[in-house]
Amino acid sequence: MLLKGKIALVTGSTSGIGFACARSLAAEGATIAINGFGKPDSVAAICAELSELSGAPTVYFPADLSQPEDNRNLVQQVQDSFGGVDILIANAGIQHVEAVETFPSQKWDEILAINLSSPFHLIKAVLPLMRRNQWGRIIATASIHSTVASAFKSAYVAAKHGVVGLVKTVALETAGSGITVNAISPGYVWTPLVEQQIPDTMRARGMTREQVLKDVILAAQPSGEFVMVEQIAALALFLCRPEAAQITGANYMMDGGYTAR
Ligand code: NAD
Repeated sequence: MLLKGKIALVTGSTSGIGFACARSLAAEGATIAINGFGKPDSVAAICAELSELSGAPTVYFPADLSQPEDNRNLVQQVQDSFGGVDILIANAGIQHVEAVETFPSQKWDEILAINLSSPFHLIKAVLPLMRRNQWGRIIATASIHSTVASAFKSAYVAAKHGVVGLVKTVALETAGSGITVNAISPGYVWTPLVEQQIPDTMRARGMTREQVLKDVILAAQPSGEFVMVEQIAALALFLCRPEAAQITGANYMMDGGYTAR
């Protein structure tokens, strides 16, 4: 197993892309620390599934990543439980869809805190642990909105552009150290995050659910298909492989051609 003995912290792994990434790393033997919100039953089921895949214990850490202190405590708790962090997938993220004039300032702060500042606090805390082992993999889940904008998503677009800037900067600061830092930028992936923004998009654009799916979401994705969480997880796993040791500071689009136009 490729990642046996490695410790992976995947944020936002109680759902969607994060859970799929945790599964792919666990299937290669990594010990998984999961995080995110979720009902106790479903979190217990996720931990059981990951432990079975990896053959190692999976621990759930319920940190609220909008809080800087929680980010630092999360890394400390993973270190206390498992002895370090070898792989960080900074994946937790939220969205809010509204015109900038009425965009709630509190939502702006929350989106910036979770989608941009959390990766900063996590990276800052894990780097000393990775430098100690001269090996590490840091992957941020960004978005096509790291390179292009969509109306009514000001905070999300700003945060995702920012996180890729952070990834590039840390890649330069760690180049040659055995640590790589990259971003994966999905187009539309069918997860609760997409499902939940449909009502807001319906309101903002005055459309039906079907119109939002066909004319807004999949119309913008040339393939006309959603990206699957397993496809993103496979790329994340590849970035952990020895063959990916020279890939750093990259921002991989997986978007059915969205950003090719
Ligand atoms: P999701 O809603 O299924 O999962 C989000 C995860 O983040 C959940 O586990 C949730 O509990 C966690 N989370 C939210 N707020 C948190 C907080 N304050 N503290 C800790 N955890 C918190 O969403 P997803 O689609 O799997 O999104 C994962 C990442 O992928 C996000 O960064 C998102 O921006 C990005 N992304 C998603 C899509 C898409 O189409 N789904 C496209 C591009 C990028």
